[in-house]
Amino acid sequence: MPVVIAALLGAAMGSFAALLAERTLRAEPVLWARSQCRACAARLGWTELVPILSYLWQRGRCRHCDARIPPALFQAELAGALMGAAAALASPDPLRALVLGLWMWALLALAIADLRAFRLPDRLLLLAALAGAAHVGMGDGSGWPSLADRTLNAGLGAGAGAGSFWLIRLIYRLARGRDGMGLGDVKLMAVLGLGLGLERLPLTVLLAALSALIVSVLRAWRRGRPLNRLGRVPFGAALALAAAVMAVL
Ligand SMILES: [Zn+2]
Repeated sequence: MPVVIAALLGAAMGSFAALLAERTLRAEPVLWARSQCRACAARLGWTELVPILSYLWQRGRCRHCDARIPPALFQAELAGALMGAAAALASPDPLRALVLGLWMWALLALAIADLRAFRLPDRLLLLAALAGAAHVGMGDGSGWPSLADRTLNAGLGAGAGAGSFWLIRLIYRLARGRDGMGLGDVKLMAVLGLGLGLERLPLTVLLAALSALIVSVLRAWRRGRPLNRLGRVPFGAALALAAAVMAVL
């Protein structure tokens, strides 16, 4: 039962993460703007705001103007639901599950922003950092490791994450004469290292690199282009989602 409730809350939070990412990218107010159709500006009633279900029963189209609702919104709601359920399964204590969920939903918002616009906005990074710090502060309830050890591990994780990516960025710039990675990825690694701690960081980067490579190979194959002509890869999104997976494993 708690898993079902967490999944329902998660679907709503996935929807909110998509909204948050969208409005942050457009520098619009987040909370005090009514939900409306992006195509015809019709205000949406509550039946049109039910996550996952409203998309399915409207067959992915606006009820007022028949414009296509972006499938990404539906995918964000599904991902949010999965994250909520995973947080509830990973942590039996409701408050800890909620904080873990908040961390993953903040990562989801970052992933959406990177996929939409190749940007990792500071506001979303800060949100993820705060949720990650709360998660570290609460621990898993066993009292082990101690708060001091958890804090040290979070600090080492943040430093190692940001330091290693900053170094990669510098080496790439020296070798190729241009930036291969945004500063947002460096900040994201600090945030992920803070929330995950030092020892889970290498596996997170490996998981992100492997999944980004698989997605890139599939995209190159579908478009019939060589892999090195594919253009930018939203690696921040891969990192954020890999960290969400690592957080519950
Ligand atoms: Zn519409």
